[in-house]
Amino acid sequence: MALKIDFNYSPNFNSIKRNYKKIKFLVFHYTGMKKESDAINKLTKMQSEVSSHYFIKNNGDIILMVPDLYIAWHAGKSAWKNYKSLNKYSIGIEINNSGHQFNYKKYSSKQINSILGLSKHLIKKYNIKKENILGHSDIAPNRKKDPGEKFPWKYLAEHNIGFWHSLSNNLLKKNRQIKINESDKKLFFKNLYKIGYSRNYSKSFHKTHNLRSITKAFQRRFRQELVNGLIDKECLIISNNLLKK
Ligand SMILES: [Zn+2]
Repeated sequence: MALKIDFNYSPNFNSIKRNYKKIKFLVFHYTGMKKESDAINKLTKMQSEVSSHYFIKNNGDIILMVPDLYIAWHAGKSAWKNYKSLNKYSIGIEINNSGHQFNYKKYSSKQINSILGLSKHLIKKYNIKKENILGHSDIAPNRKKDPGEKFPWKYLAEHNIGFWHSLSNNLLKKNRQIKINESDKKLFFKNLYKIGYSRNYSKSFHKTHNLRSITKAFQRRFRQELVNGLIDKECLIISNNLLKK
């Protein structure tokens, strides 16, 4: 399938070109704005100081806003594993969706098809690892909710984009909202740090708030049925399973 890409360049990028080897991550976002045209305007207007490499419209059309080898301004303050400021190492993909603030809706099937095609193309081109395909909330959990719990992570993983667990729905449901003890909660966070969530959030003054944010980010990604910031047995077994690969 040939990828059809339109152009609408953004002035918001670093003028120094990066080596293609620097590109190690894909980061998905939703726009979080009511109107698609407003989102496109924002990302292509100098005053906003934000941008992304690609934009996926409701009808599935893909717009290139910043060429891959330039650093776009989509991730902001962010961390994953030993990486900080992920803009330097990533390609940002904005998907039109009004987000949690405005009646958060499902992504359209045309959008999902485009996400699939574009991701496959970029993964192959830059040899991006499965574990480096992330959402904005994964790398900035205390600030961001996007792309959110309606993002089709499981479906994408079934098509070799990103990673997912291998647990059955039955087993998951049985463990949902089952309480766990404090040492198991510690184990859960240890697992999260091994997966890549930044340890730094747990060190700050706002530790309790931040740990809840990481838990929610994990849930938006891997336990989308219930995002409550509370660690239950289901969360623990998912985190265990993700590390088995
Ligand atoms: Zn974002």
